[in-house]
Amino acid sequence: MIVVRSTAELQRALAEPRAEGKSIGYVPTMGALHEGHLALVREAKVRDDVVVASIFVNPLQFGPDEDFDTYPRDEERDLGLCEKAEADIAWLPTAAELFPPSFGLTVAVPRLSAVLCGEGRPTHFAGVTTEMSKILILLAPTAVYLGEKDFQQLVVLRAVVRDLGLPLEVRSVPTVREVDGLALSSRNAYLAVAERPIAAALFRILSELATKLRAETGSVATVLDAGRAALTQAGVQRIDYLALVDSESLDPVAAVTAGNRLVAAIRVGSTRLIDNVEV
Ligand code: AMP
Repeated sequence: MIVVRSTAELQRALAEPRAEGKSIGYVPTMGALHEGHLALVREAKVRDDVVVASIFVNPLQFGPDEDFDTYPRDEERDLGLCEKAEADIAWLPTAAELFPPSFGLTVAVPRLSAVLCGEGRPTHFAGVTTEMSKILILLAPTAVYLGEKDFQQLVVLRAVVRDLGLPLEVRSVPTVREVDGLALSSRNAYLAVAERPIAAALFRILSELATKLRAETGSVATVLDAGRAALTQAGVQRIDYLALVDSESLDPVAAVTAGNRLVAAIRVGSTRLIDNVEV
Protein backbone atom coordinates (compact mmCIF):
# COMPACT_ATOMS: atom_id res chain seq x y z
CA MET A 1 0.00 0.00 0.00
CA ILE A 2 1.26 3.47 -0.89
CA VAL A 3 0.60 6.36 1.49
CA VAL A 4 0.22 9.75 -0.18
CA ARG A 5 -0.61 13.18 1.21
CA SER A 6 -0.44 15.87 -1.49
CA THR A 7 -2.67 15.83 -4.55
CA ALA A 8 0.50 15.80 -6.71
CA GLU A 9 1.62 12.54 -5.04
CA LEU A 10 -1.89 11.15 -5.48
CA GLN A 11 -1.94 11.99 -9.20
CA ARG A 12 1.53 10.44 -9.64
CA ALA A 13 0.39 7.24 -7.96
CA LEU A 14 -2.69 7.09 -10.21
CA ALA A 15 -1.00 8.02 -13.50
CA GLU A 16 -0.02 4.48 -14.45
CA PRO A 17 -3.27 2.71 -13.54
CA ARG A 18 -5.21 5.45 -15.36
CA ALA A 19 -3.03 5.12 -18.47
CA GLU A 20 -3.61 1.37 -18.42
CA GLY A 21 -7.38 1.95 -18.25
CA LYS A 22 -7.70 0.37 -14.81
CA SER A 23 -10.78 1.05 -12.75
CA ILE A 24 -10.32 3.11 -9.59
CA GLY A 25 -12.57 2.53 -6.58
CA TYR A 26 -12.64 5.32 -4.02
CA VAL A 27 -13.58 4.98 -0.33
CA PRO A 28 -13.84 8.29 1.53
CA THR A 29 -13.53 8.12 5.34
CA MET A 30 -12.85 10.37 8.29
CA GLY A 31 -10.63 7.75 9.91
CA ALA A 32 -11.16 6.07 13.30
CA LEU A 33 -11.71 3.10 11.05
CA HIS A 34 -13.91 0.13 11.94
CA GLU A 35 -15.35 -2.88 10.15
CA GLY A 36 -17.98 -0.65 8.47
CA HIS A 37 -15.29 1.32 6.67
CA LEU A 38 -13.36 -1.85 5.89
CA ALA A 39 -16.46 -3.40 4.29
CA LEU A 40 -16.39 -0.51 1.80
CA VAL A 41 -12.70 -1.10 1.07
CA ARG A 42 -13.28 -4.83 0.60
CA GLU A 43 -16.23 -4.23 -1.72
CA ALA A 44 -14.12 -1.80 -3.76
CA LYS A 45 -11.31 -4.37 -3.85
CA VAL A 46 -13.67 -6.97 -5.32
CA ARG A 47 -15.07 -4.64 -7.97
CA ASP A 48 -12.20 -2.35 -8.95
CA ASP A 49 -8.56 -2.71 -10.00
CA VAL A 50 -7.13 0.00 -7.75
CA VAL A 51 -8.59 1.04 -4.40
CA VAL A 52 -7.95 4.48 -2.92
CA ALA A 53 -9.07 5.05 0.68
CA SER A 54 -8.90 8.57 2.05
CA ILE A 55 -8.65 9.54 5.69
CA PHE A 56 -9.59 13.15 6.26
CA VAL A 57 -11.62 14.78 9.00
CA ASN A 58 -13.38 17.31 6.79
CA PRO A 59 -13.58 20.60 8.68
CA LEU A 60 -16.33 21.94 6.39
CA GLN A 61 -18.91 19.42 7.60
CA PHE A 62 -18.68 20.25 11.32
CA GLY A 63 -20.83 22.96 12.85
CA PRO A 64 -19.28 25.47 15.29
CA ASP A 65 -20.50 23.53 18.36
CA GLU A 66 -19.67 20.08 17.01
CA ASP A 67 -16.85 17.62 17.72
CA PHE A 68 -14.27 18.56 15.06
CA ASP A 69 -11.50 19.07 17.65
CA THR A 70 -12.28 15.93 19.64
CA TYR A 71 -13.18 13.64 16.70
CA PRO A 72 -11.10 10.45 17.21
CA ARG A 73 -7.87 10.45 15.16
CA ASP A 74 -5.31 7.63 15.02
CA GLU A 75 -3.39 7.71 11.76
CA GLU A 76 -1.08 4.80 12.48
CA ARG A 77 -3.87 2.42 13.46
CA ASP A 78 -5.99 3.52 10.47
CA LEU A 79 -3.15 2.94 8.02
CA GLY A 80 -2.65 -0.55 9.46
CA LEU A 81 -6.33 -1.31 8.92
CA CYS A 82 -6.30 0.06 5.35
CA GLU A 83 -3.33 -2.15 4.61
CA LYS A 84 -5.06 -5.19 6.15
CA ALA A 85 -8.17 -4.54 4.01
CA GLU A 86 -5.84 -4.36 0.99
CA ALA A 87 -6.33 -0.77 -0.07
CA ASP A 88 -3.73 0.09 -2.71
CA ILE A 89 -3.41 3.78 -1.91
CA ALA A 90 -4.14 5.52 1.40
CA TRP A 91 -4.62 9.22 0.80
CA LEU A 92 -4.29 11.61 3.73
CA PRO A 93 -5.08 15.01 2.26
CA THR A 94 -4.38 18.16 4.24
CA ALA A 95 -6.94 20.87 4.90
CA ALA A 96 -4.24 23.41 3.98
CA GLU A 97 -4.07 22.02 0.43
CA LEU A 98 -7.76 21.22 -0.12
CA PHE A 99 -9.11 24.38 1.46
CA PRO A 100 -6.50 27.17 1.31
CA PRO A 101 -7.54 30.63 2.56
CA SER A 102 -8.57 31.57 -1.01
CA PHE A 103 -11.10 28.71 -1.17
CA GLY A 104 -14.55 30.20 -1.72
CA LEU A 105 -16.60 27.47 -3.40
CA THR A 106 -19.83 26.00 -2.09
CA VAL A 107 -21.57 23.05 -3.74
CA ALA A 108 -24.94 22.43 -2.16
CA VAL A 109 -28.09 20.45 -2.72
CA PRO A 110 -30.32 22.64 -0.57
CA ARG A 111 -33.60 20.72 -0.67
CA LEU A 112 -32.13 17.33 0.27
CA SER A 113 -29.78 18.94 2.78
CA ALA A 114 -32.31 20.92 4.82
CA VAL A 115 -34.39 17.98 6.03
CA LEU A 116 -33.75 15.20 8.61
CA CYS A 117 -30.13 15.61 9.86
CA GLY A 118 -30.04 18.99 8.08
CA GLU A 119 -32.61 20.43 10.49
CA GLY A 120 -30.25 20.14 13.44
CA ARG A 121 -27.06 20.47 11.37
CA PRO A 122 -27.86 23.25 8.88
CA THR A 123 -24.36 23.55 7.35
CA HIS A 124 -23.37 19.87 7.50
CA PHE A 125 -24.34 18.58 4.07
CA ALA A 126 -23.04 21.62 2.20
CA GLY A 127 -19.72 20.85 3.90
CA VAL A 128 -19.91 17.25 2.70
CA THR A 129 -20.99 18.11 -0.85
CA THR A 130 -18.41 20.88 -1.27
CA GLU A 131 -15.56 18.65 -0.09
CA MET A 132 -16.74 15.60 -2.03
CA SER A 133 -17.24 17.56 -5.26
CA LYS A 134 -13.68 18.82 -5.08
CA ILE A 135 -12.30 15.38 -4.26
CA LEU A 136 -14.34 13.48 -6.85
CA ILE A 137 -13.23 15.88 -9.59
CA LEU A 138 -9.57 15.69 -8.47
CA LEU A 139 -9.48 11.95 -8.08
CA ALA A 140 -11.85 11.06 -10.94
CA PRO A 141 -12.57 7.54 -9.66
CA THR A 142 -14.58 4.96 -11.58
CA ALA A 143 -16.77 4.40 -8.53
CA VAL A 144 -17.22 5.82 -5.06
CA TYR A 145 -18.26 3.51 -2.21
CA LEU A 146 -20.56 4.87 0.48
CA GLY A 147 -22.25 3.25 3.46
CA GLU A 148 -26.02 2.97 3.82
CA LYS A 149 -25.40 3.85 7.47
CA ASP A 150 -25.35 7.53 6.43
CA PHE A 151 -28.41 7.23 4.24
CA GLN A 152 -29.08 10.93 3.75
CA GLN A 153 -25.43 11.51 2.84
CA LEU A 154 -25.72 8.74 0.25
CA VAL A 155 -28.84 10.34 -1.28
CA VAL A 156 -27.29 13.82 -1.27
CA LEU A 157 -24.06 12.60 -2.89
CA ARG A 158 -25.99 10.66 -5.53
CA ALA A 159 -27.66 13.97 -6.39
CA VAL A 160 -24.27 15.75 -6.63
CA VAL A 161 -22.87 13.10 -8.98
CA ARG A 162 -26.04 13.17 -11.09
CA ASP A 163 -26.37 16.97 -11.22
CA LEU A 164 -22.68 17.58 -12.00
CA GLY A 165 -22.76 14.74 -14.52
CA LEU A 166 -19.65 13.16 -13.00
CA PRO A 167 -18.69 10.03 -14.93
CA LEU A 168 -18.61 7.66 -11.97
CA GLU A 169 -20.84 5.18 -10.20
CA VAL A 170 -22.07 5.61 -6.65
CA ARG A 171 -22.12 2.19 -4.99
CA SER A 172 -23.75 1.70 -1.60
CA VAL A 173 -22.74 -0.89 0.97
CA PRO A 174 -25.09 -2.26 3.68
CA THR A 175 -24.56 -1.16 7.28
CA VAL A 176 -22.16 -3.28 9.33
CA ARG A 177 -23.43 -3.82 12.89
CA GLU A 178 -22.35 -5.06 16.31
CA VAL A 179 -23.83 -8.37 17.45
CA ASP A 180 -26.61 -6.47 19.27
CA GLY A 181 -27.49 -4.54 16.11
CA LEU A 182 -25.82 -1.21 16.93
CA ALA A 183 -24.48 0.27 13.68
CA LEU A 184 -20.70 0.59 13.85
CA SER A 185 -19.73 4.24 14.07
CA SER A 186 -16.60 6.13 15.03
CA ARG A 187 -18.79 8.09 17.45
CA ASN A 188 -19.80 4.92 19.38
CA ALA A 189 -16.51 5.46 21.25
CA TYR A 190 -18.25 8.36 23.02
CA LEU A 191 -20.89 6.05 24.58
CA ALA A 192 -20.61 5.27 28.31
CA VAL A 193 -21.01 1.60 29.28
CA ALA A 194 -24.48 2.24 30.72
CA GLU A 195 -25.55 3.96 27.47
CA ARG A 196 -24.59 1.03 25.25
CA PRO A 197 -27.86 -0.97 25.67
CA ILE A 198 -29.89 2.20 25.06
CA ALA A 199 -27.97 2.80 21.84
CA ALA A 200 -28.61 -0.79 20.74
CA ALA A 201 -32.36 -0.30 21.23
CA LEU A 202 -32.39 1.99 18.18
CA PHE A 203 -31.85 -0.74 15.59
CA ARG A 204 -34.06 -3.22 17.45
CA ILE A 205 -36.94 -0.71 17.49
CA LEU A 206 -36.36 0.36 13.87
CA SER A 207 -36.48 -3.29 12.80
CA GLU A 208 -39.72 -3.88 14.74
CA LEU A 209 -41.28 -0.77 13.21
CA ALA A 210 -40.21 -1.81 9.71
CA THR A 211 -41.94 -5.18 10.22
CA LYS A 212 -45.12 -3.42 11.36
CA LEU A 213 -44.99 -0.98 8.45
CA ARG A 214 -44.54 -3.81 5.95
CA ALA A 215 -47.50 -5.67 7.50
CA GLU A 216 -49.54 -2.42 7.43
CA THR A 217 -50.84 -3.12 10.94
CA GLY A 218 -51.73 0.56 11.41
CA SER A 219 -51.29 3.95 9.79
CA VAL A 220 -47.71 5.14 9.27
CA ALA A 221 -48.30 7.95 11.80
CA THR A 222 -49.54 5.48 14.45
CA VAL A 223 -46.57 3.16 13.95
CA LEU A 224 -44.12 6.09 14.18
CA ASP A 225 -45.82 7.35 17.37
CA ALA A 226 -45.48 3.87 18.88
CA GLY A 227 -41.82 3.91 17.81
CA ARG A 228 -41.18 7.23 19.57
CA ALA A 229 -42.81 5.85 22.72
CA ALA A 230 -40.67 2.68 22.53
CA LEU A 231 -37.46 4.71 22.13
CA THR A 232 -38.34 6.87 25.13
CA GLN A 233 -39.23 3.76 27.12
CA ALA A 234 -35.81 2.28 26.22
CA GLY A 235 -34.10 5.32 27.79
CA VAL A 236 -33.48 7.53 24.75
CA GLN A 237 -33.39 11.10 26.05
CA ARG A 238 -34.04 12.92 22.80
CA ILE A 239 -35.37 11.92 19.41
CA ASP A 240 -34.22 14.35 16.72
CA TYR A 241 -36.38 12.60 14.15
CA LEU A 242 -38.04 9.30 13.35
CA ALA A 243 -39.57 9.27 9.87
CA LEU A 244 -40.59 7.11 6.97
CA VAL A 245 -39.27 8.73 3.80
CA ASP A 246 -39.06 8.24 0.07
CA SER A 247 -35.59 6.84 -0.64
CA GLU A 248 -34.80 9.40 -3.36
CA SER A 249 -36.61 12.62 -2.44
CA LEU A 250 -36.38 12.06 1.33
CA ASP A 251 -39.95 13.39 1.51
CA PRO A 252 -42.02 11.88 4.33
CA VAL A 253 -44.51 9.31 3.10
CA ALA A 254 -47.93 8.63 4.59
CA ALA A 255 -48.38 5.19 3.04
CA VAL A 256 -45.75 2.49 2.60
CA THR A 257 -44.36 1.72 -0.85
CA ALA A 258 -41.48 -0.63 -1.64
CA GLY A 259 -38.04 0.82 -0.95
CA ASN A 260 -39.16 3.45 1.56
CA ARG A 261 -36.59 4.13 4.27
CA LEU A 262 -37.23 4.34 7.98
CA VAL A 263 -34.69 6.84 9.30
CA ALA A 264 -33.88 8.08 12.79
CA ALA A 265 -31.52 10.29 14.76
CA ILE A 266 -31.45 10.16 18.54
CA ARG A 267 -29.34 11.39 21.44
CA VAL A 268 -28.03 8.97 24.01
CA GLY A 269 -26.41 11.13 26.68
CA SER A 270 -24.38 13.62 24.67
CA THR A 271 -23.86 11.22 21.74
CA ARG A 272 -25.89 11.66 18.58
CA LEU A 273 -26.66 8.39 16.78
CA ILE A 274 -28.27 7.83 13.41
CA ASP A 275 -29.56 4.66 11.79
CA ASN A 276 -31.99 3.55 9.10
CA VAL A 277 -33.59 0.44 7.66
CA GLU A 278 -35.27 -0.31 4.36
CA VAL A 279 -38.99 -0.95 4.57
P1 AMP B 1 -17.16 8.37 8.12
O1 AMP B 1 -15.75 7.99 8.44
O2 AMP B 1 -18.07 8.33 9.28
O3 AMP B 1 -17.24 9.65 7.33
O4 AMP B 1 -17.70 7.24 7.13
C1 AMP B 1 -17.05 6.95 5.93
C2 AMP B 1 -17.90 6.02 5.11
O5 AMP B 1 -18.09 4.80 5.85
C3 AMP B 1 -19.31 6.57 4.81
O6 AMP B 1 -19.67 6.21 3.49
C4 AMP B 1 -20.15 5.86 5.83
O7 AMP B 1 -21.49 5.71 5.42
C5 AMP B 1 -19.46 4.51 5.89
N1 AMP B 1 -19.80 3.81 7.14
C6 AMP B 1 -19.71 4.31 8.40
N2 AMP B 1 -20.17 3.40 9.28
C7 AMP B 1 -20.57 2.32 8.58
C8 AMP B 1 -21.14 1.06 8.92
N3 AMP B 1 -21.41 0.73 10.17
N4 AMP B 1 -21.42 0.20 7.92
C9 AMP B 1 -21.17 0.53 6.62
N5 AMP B 1 -20.63 1.69 6.24
C10 AMP B 1 -20.33 2.58 7.20
